[in-house]
Amino acid sequence: MTKRFDKKEKEQFKKQLRDKKFGIIHKLSKVIDESKEMESNVAQDAVDKAETSYTKEFLLSLSDADREQLVQIDEALRRLEHDEFGLCQQCGKEISRKRLEAIPWAQYCISCQEKIEAESKSG
Ligand SMILES: [Zn+2]
Repeated sequence: MTKRFDKKEKEQFKKQLRDKKFGIIHKLSKVIDESKEMESNVAQDAVDKAETSYTKEFLLSLSDADREQLVQIDEALRRLEHDEFGLCQQCGKEISRKRLEAIPWAQYCISCQEKIEAESKSG
């Protein structure tokens, strides 16, 4: 448990995360509108339900990168609620404030992130 951030700071991170999240969702709605390959109500549905869950169709229509980011954003929002926000999911240490301000959905501290990226490249 950490109380690193006061209520105002947490609200600020929450806002950033939600803005990013809705950005992804709206980007997708636009793609769907333009392509007409999918029923447009899928995207609207996703926007409506974005607070809690996504439909399978919606998730399938996302790129891997967007899907991954949405998951990370949701996790970060969850951690905010539980006062676990800003802790590295790998080593449990605090992620630097500077890093969180740039990437509020960051899961790992810089050293763990680098390690994971090095491993995924070599693997
Ligand atoms: Zn770490």
